[in-house]
Amino acid sequence: MREQAKPQDLLDWYDRHARALPWRVPPHSNVRPDPYRIWLSEIMLQQTTVPAVKPYFEAFTARWPTVTALAEARDEDVMAAWAGLGYYARARNLLKCARAVTVDHGGVFPETLEGLLSLPGVGPYTAGAVAAIAFDQPATVVDGNVERVMARLHDEHTPLPAAKPILTQMAAALTPATRPGDYAQAVMDLGATLCTPRNPACGLCPWRRACAAWEAGTAAELPKKAPKARKPTRLGIAYLARRVDGAWLLERRPDKGLLGGMLGWPGSDWGEAPQEAPPIRAEWKTLPGEARHTFTHFHLRLTVKTALVPMDRPPERGDFIELPEFSPSDLPTVMRKAFDLARSA
Ligand code: SF4
Repeated sequence: MREQAKPQDLLDWYDRHARALPWRVPPHSNVRPDPYRIWLSEIMLQQTTVPAVKPYFEAFTARWPTVTALAEARDEDVMAAWAGLGYYARARNLLKCARAVTVDHGGVFPETLEGLLSLPGVGPYTAGAVAAIAFDQPATVVDGNVERVMARLHDEHTPLPAAKPILTQMAAALTPATRPGDYAQAVMDLGATLCTPRNPACGLCPWRRACAAWEAGTAAELPKKAPKARKPTRLGIAYLARRVDGAWLLERRPDKGLLGGMLGWPGSDWGEAPQEAPPIRAEWKTLPGEARHTFTHFHLRLTVKTALVPMDRPPERGDFIELPEFSPSDLPTVMRKAFDLARSA
């Protein structure tokens, strides 16, 4: 007969195998996790993997070691430091939240789920993760790893995203009152290290005897996912103008919308038939090839045009940024791809 899954079995496994992560405090340590570091890591980890987040997390916490330090940062410095991590609305919300914690809460994160949910950019998932991990509250935390573990543990075949509420209920039913913070991290670690999407290492799993999918031999095919709609392709033109002194013509994108608040190349609209929209009068040269990038809802193919312009010609849009001030690493990935294409040409 199959056993009941016991949180304690997972906690015992976690005590031996917890991943060492830069924002994490090891189990049974006398130090409490820093809510600022937990919150920052959770915002960065949304839609992004642990290896991609680590260098950004280290750089952010070295430069802005406290929430108050981050609150006092210049918007453009934070946007530049976030460049390459994607989903730029997160960076804008990060600043809003740091400022709300500093101004409205005296620089101290609220400890309750309700208090955390009142902060800008903090949704139920992040609030639950911070409440559990930083404050050891019995909040249910369900990310992709946890969904996969729950679907397998219960051999649940309802496809995602319809299965989300079912899997959340399953996760909530298992969340223990003792060490809920460690437990939340333990389920995530199980999903990240053993109960992986392909080839789960069931032989090493502390919940194997309780796992319905292991018994049924269905683990590798779970969780089921509804087929994704095909992403459309949009076209666009990016204009890379360089002044004879080496300065580049750049434009800060409007706060709202895709890549909001980020620095980028002036360009056309992105659609089926983009209209020419050069930001300065020049002899534009179209480069061979394209800069290609995939966003959440569409693929983008950018034609890249370049021009060399004299010192005295004023741009119609954007500003020339001189070389020491301009670093390609401050650009979001799609804009950096356009720059790389121009540089290689
Ligand atoms: S037994 Fe296998 S499928 Fe089941 S929870 Fe453990 S690793 Fe995942």
